[in-house]
Amino acid sequence: MSVKTEKLDPDAKITDLTLNKVYLGKVLRNGLILLNKNIKGRLTETNTYSENDSVAVSVVKINYPDGLILKSLGTDIEIQETKKDISMLSITDVGKYYSFYVKIEEINQTSGPTLFVLNDGSGAIVAKAFVKPGLRAFPELNKEHIVKVKLLIKEYQGNIEAELLSSEKLDEKESDRIMKKLESELDKKSLPAQMNYLVKSQVLLDLTDNIINVAKEIKKAILESRPIIVRHHADCDGYCGGVAIERAILPLIITHHRDENAQWHYYKRCPSKTPFYDYIDATKDLVSTLKDMARFGMKEPLIILIDNGSCSEDIMAIRKVKIYNAKCVVIDHHNPGIILNKKAEVDKYIDAHVNPYLVGGNKNLSAGMLATEVARFINKDVLNIEFLPALAGIGDRCDGEEFNSYLEIAGSMGYDRGYLKEISECIDFEAHYLKFLDSRGLVDDLLGENKEIQKKLVNLLYQDVLKRKDEQFNAIKHYLEVVETDKLVIGKLNVADVTFKGDYPPPGKVTGLTQDYLRIKYPEKKVITVGFGSDFITIRTQKEFTGFNINLMIKEIETKKPYTLCDGGGHENAGTLKFIEAARNEVLEFVLSYIKRVANN
Ligand code: MN
Repeated sequence: MSVKTEKLDPDAKITDLTLNKVYLGKVLRNGLILLNKNIKGRLTETNTYSENDSVAVSVVKINYPDGLILKSLGTDIEIQETKKDISMLSITDVGKYYSFYVKIEEINQTSGPTLFVLNDGSGAIVAKAFVKPGLRAFPELNKEHIVKVKLLIKEYQGNIEAELLSSEKLDEKESDRIMKKLESELDKKSLPAQMNYLVKSQVLLDLTDNIINVAKEIKKAILESRPIIVRHHADCDGYCGGVAIERAILPLIITHHRDENAQWHYYKRCPSKTPFYDYIDATKDLVSTLKDMARFGMKEPLIILIDNGSCSEDIMAIRKVKIYNAKCVVIDHHNPGIILNKKAEVDKYIDAHVNPYLVGGNKNLSAGMLATEVARFINKDVLNIEFLPALAGIGDRCDGEEFNSYLEIAGSMGYDRGYLKEISECIDFEAHYLKFLDSRGLVDDLLGENKEIQKKLVNLLYQDVLKRKDEQFNAIKHYLEVVETDKLVIGKLNVADVTFKGDYPPPGKVTGLTQDYLRIKYPEKKVITVGFGSDFITIRTQKEFTGFNINLMIKEIETKKPYTLCDGGGHENAGTLKFIEAARNEVLEFVLSYIKRVANN
């Protein structure tokens, strides 16, 4: 029976040997056994082999610095390749030498060594090389090159890293072969983790291809060491969606880089104050990524837009980041306008898109629900997200079968409807003061990362929210103008004048409060609230008010009164339009007459 042996790395030292392990040796003329150019030893018994015989030997004793006693196991040998994937490296490999075929993902010149992020399709590792402080090592290597590298595995602050010892250029054929292998491995690894939904839903089933595509793009970005930016609307629904995706991808980023710190280098989540991907936010995202690209040799980012991104007002910002080769996927439930072949206008510019309207659904499947389902496709082991869809739905006032099923799931996790309502109000409150801050820890707790702290936060904040609302109602009731007809009630309120600038509740919220108040007061009638300021109007109405569509109304103003510079959007029954101050009275009049017109139809 042949003996399985391992060929020792040519650069290995005597300290790299393991007792009792079997290695391949070559018999020298003087009877000693050569394991590599540095290491030789003598056999325990008389050497009966001829010069240059290959022989299997096990290590019996190591007398440092260079005495080595070996036991011969014969010449019938089977050489085992010490093959390992980068993802399989562990702390026990420290001090060992390995060769890998890799793609160079990043090159970062520090003031000390040069850092290379290398990916063999299974995972990534940082390899350092040092010639002189700040001087580029291996100047012949470039990003995206496919090479064979030899690494010495080391440990740095508890994580594994490597020293890049040498690199070998591959011929074109070989390099093509490796590239194809890496690509197919990437494709395989970015397939969805699982493919079922938390709830029964035809719309979700019809969206499956879209969900797979978004999940794939996100997984691919992680595996390619592409930085990820999550941009979500700064309301309860948007936060739920952003955090669901975050809880799925952070563990994957850490595993891929085998480094806890990677979550800070390769991931960022920022709320957007506007209900669309604002040009300012796109500019901020670009400024930070261009800096990271120049400073750390990072790739162009993947931008994930959540509860934003589907509509025509998002397109300008999306096109801008695309100019810089960013990737962009959208998870949204705002009405994207005309749908042709399951595609909206924005699909021309983005890499993947989940939106219920693409398959005939509507906003009742909110962004937080969709993102939670996408999160499960990305990472089947994702923790602590199953109650987020219900919370998102409460925040966005959804209803329907799916929402009810999500409520049941949340209920079984200890989140009843009342508590969800309280949390959602608190998130709105926090979101208001956090504005655009990247606020990972704070919101995470409010969203149940730590249930104990969550309870305490809700207790603290909710009392304050209630008090503020109570006070606000005094002002609302006093200054509200109500226009009442047979079937219709229109509430008209200058919401900017009845709030303190920058304080909670903000004007949009006050419009919602007014709507709630009027609906209780006029349960038999169609109710619509028009809250306005000097250059905006926010509208809230009930879903039974069919025929009213804020997007169509804005289109009509744009055509008939282009000089008002009116713009905006939202859902059919909640949204905001803005315009120049000079046009306020005219736009307001138009809106009121539009409402009366469609109410009579
Ligand atoms: Mn939403």
